[in-house]
Amino acid sequence: MGPTDDMTATGARALLVVDVQNDFVEGGSLGVDGGRAVARAISTHLGRHHDDYAMVVASRDWHHAEGTNGGHFPEPGAEPDFATTWPVHCVSTEDGSDYVPDLDLTHVGLHVKKGQGVPAYSAFEGTTDDGRPLAAVLREAGVDAVDVVGIATDHCVRATALDARQEGFAVRLLDGLHAGVAPATSTAAVAEMEDAGVVRAAVAGDVPG
Ligand SMILES: [Zn+2]
Repeated sequence: MGPTDDMTATGARALLVVDVQNDFVEGGSLGVDGGRAVARAISTHLGRHHDDYAMVVASRDWHHAEGTNGGHFPEPGAEPDFATTWPVHCVSTEDGSDYVPDLDLTHVGLHVKKGQGVPAYSAFEGTTDDGRPLAAVLREAGVDAVDVVGIATDHCVRATALDARQEGFAVRLLDGLHAGVAPATSTAAVAEMEDAGVVRAAVAGDVPG
């Protein structure tokens, strides 16, 4: 099956909530400005629009406490380069890996974890608790379109949206429901996503004003 677009998507739609975790918002080890506001906005969106989705999926970056997780964390004593190595974050046994408390999990029906011992940016690299890959679960549910939201626009949201296109899903990036590390890389990431067929969409009530 080749990539579809919104005009040809006829099945169900899923919401993918990417990495809304304590380490990725203000005060976290890799905190993104605006992350907490995005968590609240996603919760508001879900409160209004959960019926629009056949499935709501949330991903978590989920790293081992020991070692470098395949070179994702710096070697002891080394500094992260913020390109391939990052400050220690989302260690599975620490609070930093928890969902942000402002994220309402009521409507989340599927939880995906990624990065156990390896670098992983896309939610499609993750698996459910019973070991199934995300794309297979979505297809089994008849999903052929996804809305992507979360943190960070220029890293894991980008990778998730691009992988969703690769997997053949119609993809929307919802305005006001994602936050990036830096403006320049976020702008570039959105352009790259659009080039890959991702459609930016504004859902009523999500964006103030
Ligand atoms: Zn990570």
